[in-house]
Amino acid sequence: MQPLSVTPSSVHTERSTMTSSLFDLSDKCVVVTGGNNGIGRGMAEAVARAGATVAVWGRNEERNAETLASLESIGNPSLALGVDVSDESAVVDAFAETLDAFGHIDAVFANAGVGAGATRFEDMSTEEWRWIFGVNMDGVFWTFREAVKHMKPRGSGSLVVTSSVSADFGFPRGEHYAASKAGVRAMIQGLAVEYGRYGIRANAIAPGWVVTGMTDGFIEGDRFEQNVKPRIPTGRWGTPEDFGGIAVYLASDASQWHTGDTITIDGGYTQF
Ligand code: NAP
Repeated sequence: MQPLSVTPSSVHTERSTMTSSLFDLSDKCVVVTGGNNGIGRGMAEAVARAGATVAVWGRNEERNAETLASLESIGNPSLALGVDVSDESAVVDAFAETLDAFGHIDAVFANAGVGAGATRFEDMSTEEWRWIFGVNMDGVFWTFREAVKHMKPRGSGSLVVTSSVSADFGFPRGEHYAASKAGVRAMIQGLAVEYGRYGIRANAIAPGWVVTGMTDGFIEGDRFEQNVKPRIPTGRWGTPEDFGGIAVYLASDASQWHTGDTITIDGGYTQF
């Protein structure tokens, strides 16, 4: 028998190919709701760079157009749709339109969300409560319901929701926001169990403090810099780019047996 001879350079090439194909998204079609800004845009651009065909959904047409141009400059077929995820028929129509354009959808990131207005609990109006839940919970429900209808007969798919570390600790003046972010985690756990047998996995990402449109105006103010930043062991706020790696992993076949989990990306904030 011929002895097996492998040169170091061929080992290196083989390993690089294995690693890159594990995270290669060139046959994947991905939807990112709230993909025109902040964390969603960070995830959309990262999966596009890994080869995916990407659709972003959001309400702001200007940011949609700008994100579409950026995705297309990466070189992939892309779509940006004007969608309000708190409107059931808009979500149903957008899913159908995306499917029509792409032919199939492999991963759905239900990331669109709105933040709390720092209202004292006793002053919180029913409108404010319902607005938060309309986007952060109903929008996720409708997005995933349409996704599951498509993924179940295909026997594969990845569902990912953007939750928040606020689901884990008392969030004063943000009880509605934190409750919605805890609620979507419960939804994810049920989906993981109900649809695991159909090859569908479901996970949540829990970001810590990230500089985005949602936190603009207070996160970099003196009070936050003094009181909150010292509790982040890595010593800085998160950026949208910090969510690229986890998005690629969860959209890729590398995460095929990873389901029902919440992955915290917070620079160590919750450990301190
Ligand atoms: P962002 O920059 O304000 O982005 C929010 C995105 O959601 C935008 O693309 C926005 O687009 C979209 N959106 C909001 N309401 C929508 C609606 N009704 N229909 C469709 N799209 C809608 O904030 P972000 O921080 O990246 O937020 C992304 C997710 O991360 C949210 O779920 C948020 O709760 C979560 N999160 C953020 C932090 C943080 O520190 N930033 C921490 C934990 C969790 P349009 O305005 O164009 O619709």
